[in-house]
Amino acid sequence: MTLLEEIKEANRSFLAGSSLQLAEGDRFVVLTCIDPRLTGFLEPALGLSRHRALVVRTAGNQVSDSCNDALRSIAAAVYVKGGKEILVVGHSDCAMSRFSATDVIESFRKAGVPRSAFGDGDLRAWFAAFHDVKANVIRSVEYLRKCGMFPANFKIHGLMLDSQNGKLEVVRDGDSIKTESVVSDQLVATPSPARTPGPVSSSVQAGALAPEPPPLPAPATKGAATTAGGRPGALKIMANPASMMDAATILRDFVVRERQNQKFQNTIAELSALIRKEKNPSVIMGELDRLVKEYQHEYPNLPAALSLLRKTMETRGPGGSWLFEALARILD
Ligand SMILES: [Zn+2]
Repeated sequence: MTLLEEIKEANRSFLAGSSLQLAEGDRFVVLTCIDPRLTGFLEPALGLSRHRALVVRTAGNQVSDSCNDALRSIAAAVYVKGGKEILVVGHSDCAMSRFSATDVIESFRKAGVPRSAFGDGDLRAWFAAFHDVKANVIRSVEYLRKCGMFPANFKIHGLMLDSQNGKLEVVRDGDSIKTESVVSDQLVATPSPARTPGPVSSSVQAGALAPEPPPLPAPATKGAATTAGGRPGALKIMANPASMMDAATILRDFVVRERQNQKFQNTIAELSALIRKEKNPSVIMGELDRLVKEYQHEYPNLPAALSLLRKTMETRGPGGSWLFEALARILD
């Protein structure tokens, strides 16, 4: 029986009024919300027994680039504590889906804390508020699947718990999701220094989470990113490309992977022609935007790479020939 089947069985038992604890077995990670209604309720509803479940709680069961500690805890649960699967468990009526910026402002002002303590950006964004609880669970699952810290075949499930009656619904079945998007057998993580897990990972860093230096973009080595059989190697995941070199590596990797695809070849031929005759970099960036939107579901770090390219363009001023040269090499 899979872990998910075991948990569903325990949940049926819970709903029927009895309690069934999971049998002894592998450890697993649960990422769930801070909501106090879940305390002492989540455990029997999922049959969580002592010694197996490694529970990480964040507001709205979220994990993202702005949430390093959550990711570090999950990574530690897997690589330090031996968790073999991850369950993201959202719940109905989550307060983060009813987030009111006005109420929160009133709340911290009452406590004597100025608005500026939370920066000058949007408060909803700062608190990562959301509207759709299920979509939010799926977002956390997808983030974990694509962050590059877990193997592509690592099981990551998404569940929703009814806060009232404890009924569990599977919204993402990690047992049935095939390794997707890339031909890689395993995603290779190259976390940028800014997001490399810090202190708790000192023992971990010696192992699976050790950051690798960014690979060179190698424009002159067409095919370098492919294996002898012509099959692209592992997809390079850099959640936060930190330099133009990172951005170029991501874009180059994308082009090398997709170049077998006829439609992509046509797109690239058109783009190359445009680069040769167009003098306005903004037009080129617009075309790249369109291309990135089309492929970003398969290449989650493309938008960040493009944004870095755009920032560099803005810093260096328009009209710089460097952009045309860089793109010509990337697309070659
Ligand atoms: Zn919640």
